[in-house]
Amino acid sequence: MKTAGVEVDDLAVAYDGVTALEGVSLSIEEGEFFTLVGPSGCGKTTMLRSIAGLETPSAGRIAIDGRDVTDDPTEDRNVGMVFQNYALFPHMSVRENVAYGLQFHDVDDGRDEDERVSKLLDLVDLASFGDREPTQLSGGQQQRVALARALAPEPDVLLLDEPLSALDAQLREELRVQIKNLQQALDITTVYVTHDQAEALAISDRIAVVQDGTVEQVATPESVYRDPASRFVAEFVGDNNVFAGKVTEGGSQLAVDGATLPLPNWADARDGESVALSVRPESISLEGIDTVTTDETTLDATVRTAEFLGDAYRVHCLWNDQTIAVKTAATEPPAGDVTLRFDSDDVHVL
Ligand code: ATP
Repeated sequence: MKTAGVEVDDLAVAYDGVTALEGVSLSIEEGEFFTLVGPSGCGKTTMLRSIAGLETPSAGRIAIDGRDVTDDPTEDRNVGMVFQNYALFPHMSVRENVAYGLQFHDVDDGRDEDERVSKLLDLVDLASFGDREPTQLSGGQQQRVALARALAPEPDVLLLDEPLSALDAQLREELRVQIKNLQQALDITTVYVTHDQAEALAISDRIAVVQDGTVEQVATPESVYRDPASRFVAEFVGDNNVFAGKVTEGGSQLAVDGATLPLPNWADARDGESVALSVRPESISLEGIDTVTTDETTLDATVRTAEFLGDAYRVHCLWNDQTIAVKTAATEPPAGDVTLRFDSDDVHVL
């Protein structure tokens, strides 16, 4: 299947004079699985709809496969779209729903319509469901029909808006693996919208973290997780502990509400500067329980709650009026006073 990259350049969208997006630039590569993630109302759907040609930008340009499509209607953009609520035709069979997607594009591959529909149903593992109506399918199956219908016209770009959010947790995980496999098999450029950061980390080649109509960071899941560009990203993506304060002692300490923490020497901060540090729960050890290789920072804290995760405990500790989350390999739930240790290599300066 032919595929194409998407370029978004300095895009702005406003609804009735209220800004929904501003200064958004993205470069999505051919065959990439690219995810827009952010809290509700941040503008993800608006971005996706703009690429689809369903919103009119107030500024900026959009190009697909190197061609400026900013002023083109949806039907001239060759994009396939799947929404959260399936949007299948209730009185058409599964086959008819998928065949509907074929009407919009001439694909001359020598196969007739029936054959192409069968191939698409095969692709989404619904070969034997063609004669059913959507109401006779589970939510996950309906979403796979929607996916087959969107893929029918052989789009250059697949746009998915929270396609899993109406499904229960287990089904969500199963279907996201299927979507990823399908995307890789077809090598189709895919732009995926979700508010679920764990889903974004699991499924994407790259992620754009969106907040308040602007893009905070674009990077691989690993980089977004390990090296967040801002406090917002650090707190939104995965669990994180943030220590915010003012630099003291010649740049060597961070004063946090009356307590102090050592600042990594590479932080290069000046006294009086406001700085936030972040440390992931899995980078903090409980003295006496977890193996510690280095221990440049120690904090005396008290365990408040311990959640059993199966392979570990997530412990919420109180330190200096602040709750600190720690993921520990303890085999019994930790309790009482504890000493927390972490290494400056695991500290991020935000
Ligand atoms: P969610 O995850 O809740 O769907 P989102 O990140 O996709 O959120 P958008 O739907 O893109 O966010 O909305 C961005 C902003 O634009 C929000 O403040 C929203 O209220 C506003 N908005 C969206 N659609 C319209 C509209 N048709 N008219 C007016 N305002 C709108």
